[in-house]
Amino acid sequence: MQGVGFRPFVYALARRHGINGLVRNDAEGVHIEAEGDAGSLDHFLRGIEEDAPPLAVVETVAWHRLAALGERGFRIEESREGARRRALVSPDVATCEDCLTEVFDPSDRRYRYPFTNCTNCGPRFTITRQVPYDRATTTMASFEMCPECQKEYEDPTDRRFHAQPNACPVCGPRVRLLDRFGHELQAKPDDPILRTSRMLRGRAIVAIKGLGGYHLACDPFDEKAVKTLRGRKVRQDKPFALMARDLNQARKLCRTTPEEELLLASPARPIVLLERLDEAGVADEVAPRQNTLGVMLAYTPLHHLLLHDAGIPLVMTSGNNSDEPIAYRDEEALEQLGDIADFFLVHDRPIHMQTDDSVARVAREVTYPIRRSRGYAPSPLRVAESFGSHILACGGELKNTFCVAKDGHAFLSHHIGDLENYETLTSFREGIEHFCKLFDVRPELVAHDLHPEYLSTDYARELEVSGLPAAGVQHHHAHVASCLADNERPAEERVIGVALDGTGYGTDGAVWGGEFFEGSLRRGFARRGHLEYVPLPGGSAAIRQPWRMALAQLVSLYGEDETLELPLAAVRQAGDRNVRLIARLIEHELNTPPTSSAGRLFDAVAALICVPGTERTTYEGQAAVELELAADGPAGQGYPFRLRAENLGWVVEVSRIIRGVVEDVLSGREVGGISSRFHRTMAEVVVAGCERIRGVGGPTTVALSGGTFQNMLLLNQTIKLLEEKDFVVHKHKRVPTNDGGIALGQAVLADNVFGEQT
Ligand SMILES: [Zn+2]
Ligand SMILES: [Zn+2]
Repeated sequence: MQGVGFRPFVYALARRHGINGLVRNDAEGVHIEAEGDAGSLDHFLRGIEEDAPPLAVVETVAWHRLAALGERGFRIEESREGARRRALVSPDVATCEDCLTEVFDPSDRRYRYPFTNCTNCGPRFTITRQVPYDRATTTMASFEMCPECQKEYEDPTDRRFHAQPNACPVCGPRVRLLDRFGHELQAKPDDPILRTSRMLRGRAIVAIKGLGGYHLACDPFDEKAVKTLRGRKVRQDKPFALMARDLNQARKLCRTTPEEELLLASPARPIVLLERLDEAGVADEVAPRQNTLGVMLAYTPLHHLLLHDAGIPLVMTSGNNSDEPIAYRDEEALEQLGDIADFFLVHDRPIHMQTDDSVARVAREVTYPIRRSRGYAPSPLRVAESFGSHILACGGELKNTFCVAKDGHAFLSHHIGDLENYETLTSFREGIEHFCKLFDVRPELVAHDLHPEYLSTDYARELEVSGLPAAGVQHHHAHVASCLADNERPAEERVIGVALDGTGYGTDGAVWGGEFFEGSLRRGFARRGHLEYVPLPGGSAAIRQPWRMALAQLVSLYGEDETLELPLAAVRQAGDRNVRLIARLIEHELNTPPTSSAGRLFDAVAALICVPGTERTTYEGQAAVELELAADGPAGQGYPFRLRAENLGWVVEVSRIIRGVVEDVLSGREVGGISSRFHRTMAEVVVAGCERIRGVGGPTTVALSGGTFQNMLLLNQTIKLLEEKDFVVHKHKRVPTNDGGIALGQAVLADNVFGEQT
C-alpha cells in the first residue's frame, strides 16, 4: 500500500546494516537491490520481515542473487507511473504515539495542532480523490506546504517523508466554531477546541467534523443533554457510541479483556461493544436497557485535544437525522444537523469519501466485525484462490456494502447504509465508480441479490442491459460463501452452511432466513433443510411490528378462536381485532408470503414474552436484541422440536418450539428463563440440522453466517454445542455476519459458479 512508510523503513534499515543499493515500488510490490556482506544482508532480510512499519502488510519476501554493481549508498527511487497507479490506497489510520507527543508538547511547532499526521498515521481513504495517491489527488491539494513541512516531506530520514497530508499550523487546515446558522464565534477563549469542550460540559450538543463525517457530541453523564440529543435526532432506543481519550478512560466505563483492549487501541479504532460498568455513571439514555456500551478511542488529534480539554469521555454518534446517511459536506451538515446541534466545530479539509465508524466486538477472543468501515475499508481482503475475472458485487439492501474483486483480492466497500433513499443510492453509485478507479477494476461480471426489488439489483440490471454479464446469487448462499471467503477456505472444500438471518429472497419465492445448506464455493450450495414456513403477515410490516409474527405463529398453531382465548399478555396487548386481522391475512394469503426466517422467529418469541420494542421496533432487529438482553439464568433443557422430512429435505418444526414457549409463559415462568431456554433451543436446532446432514455422508465442517449470529448468546452456545459434537466451525472474523458482508460472498460465488460456465 502507499503512504505507509515502507520505503523509508527499508532505507533506514539499509543504512543501519551498511547496505548499499536502492528501493522502489514496481508492478509486483516493492523492489529492493541490496549489496553488502553476507551477515549484514541476513540481518537486513530478517529486519524486512520482522520490523516492518505497523501499517505495512508484508505478504511474502522473495529474493535471488545478483552480480554486485559496486553501489555507493542507498537511495529511494521514484516510482514509475504504472507502479504508482497500481499501489493501493490505505485506510485511515489513528494518530500515532509520536504525533500525539508532539501535539501535547508546548515546545513543539505542532503543539495543539489538530491535523498533525505522519507516514504512520492520519487520513488516507477519506481524503483520496483518485490514484495515484499524491497530495495533488487528495483534498489536501489546496494547502501548499510551508518550507518546513516541505523539508520534512522530502527527507527520507524524516517520519513525514512523502506523508501526503503533512501539515502544520502555518500551512495546513484550521478549525472554526460556528453557531447553528453558520456564523463563526469569535469570543474568548479563542481556541475553538477548548471553547467547544467547555460548551459540551455546559450541556450543549455540538456537531463535530471528523475524519469520515460529522459526529454529534454531548456529555454522556448528563441525562438531560443525552435526552435532548435523542429527542432532536429522533432516535428512541438505538444506543449512542462513546469516545474515550485512552484505554484508562475506557476501563472506567466498561469491563475489558486483553483482546478487547487490543481491538480498541488498534490503528483502525473501531467502536467496540463492551460490557458496561454500572458504577460508571453513564446516563441510561445513552444505551437504554443495554448491558453493553459501544466505546471507541480518540483517533484524530482533534479528538485527542477535545477529550483532553473536556476531561470526560463524550457521546459521539453519527451526525445524521435518524435514517439518513452521515453528513460530511459542510453546507449540507449545517442544513441536516442545524436542528439538532447547538454549535458546529468544523474545519476546512474536505472529506471526499464519507465513512462511518466501524463497529466490532470480540467473540471467543477474536474480532467479530459488525460494521466494517472507517479504518478497515478499503483494505484488500485476501482470498484463497484468485478471481478468474474482474467482478463487481452489488451487495444487499440494508447495511449495504459492495465489493470489487480481481486477482487474489477482494475490496469490500465502506458501509453505504440502507439503500432506501436517494442519498444512499447516490453514494452507492459514486462509491462503485470510485472503487473501480482506485483499484483499476473493470468489471467483467456483475453479481447481485435475487431480490427483484432491491435497488442494488436494479443497478446490476442496468449494467446487464448495457452488456455486462450478470449473476444472481441467493442471499443466504452469499452469506455462507462470505463466511468461507472470510476464513480463506479453499473453493473445493465441502461444508455445511448454516444461515440464520432476517430476510432474504429464496429461490422458491419465499422469504428465507433459517437455512441449512451443503456444498462448496466451487459448486455452490444445495438446500438440505430449513425452519418450517410460517406466514409473514403483511410482509415488511411484520418486520417493523414483531407482534404480527407472534400472532401468525399462534394462529397457525392453535387456530383463530383458540388464540383469542389464550390468557397471554401478548394476545391481550395486540387485541382481538388484530388477531382477526392476522387470521384474515393468513387465510386469504394477502401480502403474506411464507417465511423460514430465524430473525422473525426471534421476533415472535420476543413478542410472546412482551420484551420492549415488540409493538413497533425503533431500529432494525430490535426485538431480537431485546430478547437476547432479557436472557437470564441457566437455560436447562431446550424446548422440544423435531426435524420432519419434507420434499427432498427436512424442516425444523418451529410450531413445537412456540408451543413450549407458550406453555412456559402460561405456567408463569420468568421472561429471563424463557429467553435463555429459547436461545439454547436454537443452538440445539443448528446442531440437529448439522448432524442430520453429516449423518447421510455430509461434511463435518460448518460455516455460520447471517444477521441472527450477531446475537452473542446464540453464537457462543451454537459453537460450543457444535464443537462438542466434533464439528469444525467457521464464523466471521474480517467481514460482518450481517448483510454488510454478503457482497464478498456474491463475488466469490459468482466467480466460481458462473465463471465456469462462461
Ligand atoms: Zn503520526
Ligand atoms: Zn507547514
